Amino acid sequence: MSNVTDLTSDRFHDECGLFAIIDNAEAANLAYLGLHGLQHRGQESAGLVTSDGQTLHAYRRLGLVSDVFTPDVLQKLLGPRAIGHVRYSTAGGTHLSNTQPFVVHFRHGSMAVAHNGNLTNALILREEMERLGAIFQSTTDTEVLVHLMARSGGLDSVETISQALYRARGSYSILFLTPKMVVAARDPHGIRPLCLGRIGDAWVISSESVAFDLVGATFEQDIAPGELIAFDSEGKMQRHRPFPQKPNRSCLFEYVYFARPDTQLDGRSVYHARKEMGAILSQEHPVEADIVIPIPDSGTPAALGYAQKTALPFEMGLIRSHYVGRTFIEPKQSIRNFGVMLKLNPSRAVLDGKRVIVVDDSLVRGTTSKKIVENIRRAGAKEVHIRISSPPIRHACRYGIDTPTDEELIAHSKTPEETAAYIGADSLGYLSLKGLERAVRSKGNCTACFSGDYPIDFHDEGRILQLNLEGL
Ligand code: AMP
Repeated sequence: MSNVTDLTSDRFHDECGLFAIIDNAEAANLAYLGLHGLQHRGQESAGLVTSDGQTLHAYRRLGLVSDVFTPDVLQKLLGPRAIGHVRYSTAGGTHLSNTQPFVVHFRHGSMAVAHNGNLTNALILREEMERLGAIFQSTTDTEVLVHLMARSGGLDSVETISQALYRARGSYSILFLTPKMVVAARDPHGIRPLCLGRIGDAWVISSESVAFDLVGATFEQDIAPGELIAFDSEGKMQRHRPFPQKPNRSCLFEYVYFARPDTQLDGRSVYHARKEMGAILSQEHPVEADIVIPIPDSGTPAALGYAQKTALPFEMGLIRSHYVGRTFIEPKQSIRNFGVMLKLNPSRAVLDGKRVIVVDDSLVRGTTSKKIVENIRRAGAKEVHIRISSPPIRHACRYGIDTPTDEELIAHSKTPEETAAYIGADSLGYLSLKGLERAVRSKGNCTACFSGDYPIDFHDEGRILQLNLEGL
């Protein structure tokens, strides 16, 4: 098997956004806007596939949605139905062949697939199919599903898709488009989000409700865990429950960091949940200080919640530049923490002489935070108290959020006191898991990155180790 390292990194680090529109004359344009609303879920590549009832029209490229889709391209994406995908992956997996939606041709005809999540048994299934002669074009686990469908004995699209998904383990929110059908499904635990909306007579589907705003759609409901929704050639919707019922395990980290604050997840506003995380954090970890500042944008709602609860002034002590590209030429005269300064400039006018509470949503490796603390001190802050609106992240996500390995996570090996010393803060306080669950107001979510309690077995574990050793 070629390029084993790619396969591993892809499968751990897929972060994606999905959008679909069913039966609207402006399908490509609206799907393009929908994907723009989901850009935060993936900035590496973007793709759209439309259906005119006979033929699928596809376009995928590396890059941001607004760069990938020019008016010229959108004009050529014909038909009233579209599915789209934005994708983020770490360095090893950035290849055009991995961009989605995939388009395949098999005995049932043409089909496009767009997937958000991570299949935890993809390697086992892939090996099984390679033994049977299957040839893979990409390193993503989505292609495994495509081969499962090709081998399914299903009589129609819904049966074929259900049979393939039945063998998949892990997390998936997924969209399928054929010339005649659109199908959307969410894994039985509902780990990654997916919701349904309407524009007039047309249905829309999105990873997050925020994408409905930009296309003028109204939110209808979340697609339930384990639900499969199919739209036939007339646009008639049928809802299926083809998988065994499992407990809800939707991802808590979507509320903490990944989803946009102007989204609703399971009926809860992400913005209000984050503000409440900040408020609870202020009660769990109070400290004497003069001002509360966020690390923008990820820490802003929680910092507001913290400040409002404590009646301390909320200030913008770090000013974010929105124009930072991928690479930047550093001046010859060295500037400390250049990369972080470029994005977040500490404002001396706000920070000088102050005892500062700095609120962010999460600590991962601690490397950015260390630099930010140093910059805040250089801008004159007397004390720097870091407050994190989530519990320590001690375990890598196996279901589709980009986290590094356990060993690289600072909280995996360091106590809060050791971490405070490492990042140079006067104190550090994390929100408790109970506090986070209270703020989110739902029960049974996946807490694996905080607790190590993985709701779905990681079936490929031994294989990845073995393949990595072979790759050395
Ligand atoms: P660090 O100080 O290096 O641990 O980085 C912490 C920052 O990473 C916080 O501001 C988080 O908002 C951000 N962060 C958390 N999770 C992710 C993720 N999956 N992808 C990108 N950034 C993240």
